[in-house]
Amino acid sequence: MKIRKPDSKGNMIVGTTAILIAAVVLMCIVTMTSLNYIQNHNIESQSNDNFKYIIDDYSSNLEVLGRESIADVTQKVYNGLPVRDSESDIKKKLTDKLESKNDDFKEKYDVDLSSEVLSVETTDSPWVILFKVRLDGVKDNERFSQVIERNASVEGLRDPLPIAKLTIASGIMAYDDKIHYKTALSAYMLLHNFDSPESYLEATAPMTIKKCPYDPYIHHGDPGVLEDCLDTGYFHESADGSCYLCRLEGKGKCPHYGFEVFIQTHTPLGNESLSCSDHVVFADHYNGQKINPDDWDSLILDSSHRKKYGLSDYGNETY
Ligand SMILES: [Zn+2]
Ligand SMILES: [Zn+2]
Repeated sequence: MKIRKPDSKGNMIVGTTAILIAAVVLMCIVTMTSLNYIQNHNIESQSNDNFKYIIDDYSSNLEVLGRESIADVTQKVYNGLPVRDSESDIKKKLTDKLESKNDDFKEKYDVDLSSEVLSVETTDSPWVILFKVRLDGVKDNERFSQVIERNASVEGLRDPLPIAKLTIASGIMAYDDKIHYKTALSAYMLLHNFDSPESYLEATAPMTIKKCPYDPYIHHGDPGVLEDCLDTGYFHESADGSCYLCRLEGKGKCPHYGFEVFIQTHTPLGNESLSCSDHVVFADHYNGQKINPDDWDSLILDSSHRKKYGLSDYGNETY
């Protein structure tokens, strides 16, 4: 019994010391780790700063090459080949282009670059596609690594949807900066039992993507605006329309924010037929009527599109 007291006291001292030592060791570890992190981080951002001119140059190239890669896949559609996964096709094209760009940079800056295309994505603007690329480099024994993000515009590219959807075999043609549906759309409508397929014989649509400047779109009801919009062949933002990446795959509708374009009919018939916004013709399939029954070239539109474009009273003025 007598021996126990100093024993328990001794245990307490040993215990406390052990806890203290453990705490000190832990603190040391935390401090060293964070110091190390800060140091590494400094080295990394320092070296990224040193190579800023290379990274900046590479980023501007990414914007151009990204757009060219999309255009390559669009050409594939126009050549009559199906695109099943547009993101993967664009990634492959871009990977090849970046590899040769890496060789150019070796000559230009004496730097060893390797790059990996991480993603090709839609954004909240249908007019641009976002590219993410990881770039790793070594120059004079110094390393850097950075993820580069760049938007590439789809304006000025051709709309792939009509051809991807109907296929070249349908007889659809593209010339004079227009899609000429010939009999392709009528045949498609006949096949799916839509009303008045003959209304869409010889229908046309714009080919090159141009963003409509008449924004907000309700101004299309103002004098001369709709005429100019149709003459130039503008495209419009639309939550219901499909995005560029899905258009390449022939999808008339998709979950992303996209755009829509009017398919213009040229017919004396006044029958009710599909509303002429392309997502309606290719995916949503509801009817509309001519906004001006006396005009051969009048748009066929449903009431919600008439509201969106301020065309609710259009054609009534003439009466
Ligand atoms: Zn417009
Ligand atoms: Zn989409």
